Amino acid sequence: MIKLERLFTPTCLCPNETRRLTDEYKTSARAVWNFDKLKQALLETSHKKCAYCECDLSKECKYMEVEHFRDKARYPEDVVFWPNLLPSCKRCNVAKGDHDVTVEQIVNPYEVNPKDHFSFRLYRLKAKSALGKRTLDVLDLNNLERVVQVRFEIGEAIQWSLEIAIEKLNSYKISPTTRNKNRVLAHTRKLLSECQAFSSYAATSATVLQTDEKYHYLKKEMQNMKFWDQELEDLDSFSISYALDLIA
Ligand SMILES: [Zn+2]
Repeated sequence: MIKLERLFTPTCLCPNETRRLTDEYKTSARAVWNFDKLKQALLETSHKKCAYCECDLSKECKYMEVEHFRDKARYPEDVVFWPNLLPSCKRCNVAKGDHDVTVEQIVNPYEVNPKDHFSFRLYRLKAKSALGKRTLDVLDLNNLERVVQVRFEIGEAIQWSLEIAIEKLNSYKISPTTRNKNRVLAHTRKLLSECQAFSSYAATSATVLQTDEKYHYLKKEMQNMKFWDQELEDLDSFSISYALDLIA
C-alpha cells in the first residue's frame, strides 16, 4: 500500500448528480456507482491499482470494484460521495465486507500514509500501530496465496535485476565505452521504474530495492562516475517515499 492523492472530483459526481444517484440508490438499491466514468476516475487516482493491495486493475479489470470506505448498508448517504470511494480488487473488497470503519478505523491510503502504519518482513506487512494491525486483519493483507507469494516473486525479480545492473557496471569498468555506460544507465532506470507509484506492488519493490546494500553500492559507484543524473535522482527519491521500514 502506498499513499494516494485524490486531486480532483470527477464531473460525473457533481453535487446534483451525486444527490440524484444517492436518492436513486435509496429507493431502488441499484448499484448506482457502477459506471465507467466513475471507475476510470477512481483508477486515475490509484495509478490503475487496487488502493489496498496494489494489484494491477488494468490487467485484472474484471476484478475492479468501487469500494465504499464507509459501507453502503450503514451509510447510504455516502454511496457516491467521492471521498468515500476507493478503487479496489474484488479480493480486498470481499475481505473488508461490511466492516464498519467508523467503529474500528482502518488505513485509508488517501488519508494517512501507509508508511506510518506498516513495516515489512519476509514479504509480509507488519503492523507499526494498532490501526495498521486492524487493517492487516480486516483486509487479509498477508494472505499467502494472493499477496505474499506475489510480493516474493516481485522481490526476487528486483534482486535479480539488481545483479544484472552490477554486472553491467562491472562490464563498463573493464571496457568504459559509451555503449556500456548507456547499458548501465538504461538498466538502472528500468530497475527504478519498477519501484514507482504506477508499478504494481510498488511498496514491495521499493522496499526490496532500497534495503538492498547492492543497490546503494550501485548508486554510489554511479555517482562517483558522474552517471547519476537528475532523472535517476528523482526516481530514487520517489522510490524512497514508497519503501517501508524493513524489520530484520
Ligand atoms: Zn486489493
